[in-house]
Amino acid sequence: MTVRILFAALEKRWAEFEVPLRAALSEAGMAYELAPDLGPPETIDYIVYAPNSDVQDFSPFTRTKAVLGLWAGVEDVVYNTTLTQPFARMVDDGLTRGMVEWVTGHVLRHHLGMDPQIKKAGNWEALHYVPPLAQDRHVTILGLGALGRACAETLSRLGFSITGWSRSPKDIPGVACLHGNEGLQEALSVGDIVVLLVPNTPETQNLLNAETLGHLPTGSVIVNPGRGPLIDDDALIAALETGQVGHATLDVFRIEPLPEQHPYWTHPGVTITPHIASETRASSAARVIAQNVQRGETGQPFLYLLDRELGY
Ligand code: NDP
Repeated sequence: MTVRILFAALEKRWAEFEVPLRAALSEAGMAYELAPDLGPPETIDYIVYAPNSDVQDFSPFTRTKAVLGLWAGVEDVVYNTTLTQPFARMVDDGLTRGMVEWVTGHVLRHHLGMDPQIKKAGNWEALHYVPPLAQDRHVTILGLGALGRACAETLSRLGFSITGWSRSPKDIPGVACLHGNEGLQEALSVGDIVVLLVPNTPETQNLLNAETLGHLPTGSVIVNPGRGPLIDDDALIAALETGQVGHATLDVFRIEPLPEQHPYWTHPGVTITPHIASETRASSAARVIAQNVQRGETGQPFLYLLDRELGY
């Protein structure tokens, strides 16, 4: 039987995904129709979906077996009450590897103290800095899901002393794993560099606030590729002013693009990147989507389903 797959995302995504998605669906042995417009909603079996597409009301899609997200973050769909179909978020090897590279790069920048050299500040002596070895640098990763775990494992292989924190208990070789509210203070208290890779949920908003920032060792570095609302911005700016936080590298913000007047733009202790830490990669993501369609058609459970109660 032919499955009808609606591609509901921006036009530029269709241009990127059409060829790899067709190839992956054919490789998976699927007979399919795939297009950004496939006629009546009640004839659609699957929706490949980005939250910034025109589809916001899922109630007419009465036959749809699953909505297959192109994004890893789900905060824009989790509270959509019309979305009653199973929703799979994107877990893509290309996206994971991109995040590992971005996080590793920014951790190494701070670990090696590269900024003065890049800015060529001062003189020969002023540039002299011998960093500790990675084994003596403590990196804390908040969130040990698809992305946080991969970053923790890579940084551990580089020799860093890694502590990870998640909601439920974990056992990851080379990573000191803590969990739950009771584990947060200890995770923060050892973090020379703290990387945020938890999702944006009611439980994680303002995770870093005036109180929790106070648990960090003085001069810690924050690296946030997770989501803007994880940080109380006023508390972070105050902690940068006192030196409690030495630097913050921020990829994500409460409002994006970051407004021109935002104090982060001019603060010397803040590095801004424009939500580019990692992207879904069409060639690998297409295979994930095809795999989930195939699973749906052969009665197997979908991979990477959103847990609506947990909000991620
Ligand atoms: P996952 O859902 O795989 O992992 C989330 C992790 O956070 C899990 O370890 C989970 O714990 C933990 N967590 C969730 N809630 C809590 C809580 N209340 N307390 C403690 N730990 C918690 O997500 P991914 O790793 O795929 O992605 C993480 C986030 O990265 C995304 O939600 C998105 O916001 C962001 N992202 C940013 C990108 C960028 O370019 N800047 C690109 C892609 C993603 P447990 O394991 O116990 O469930």
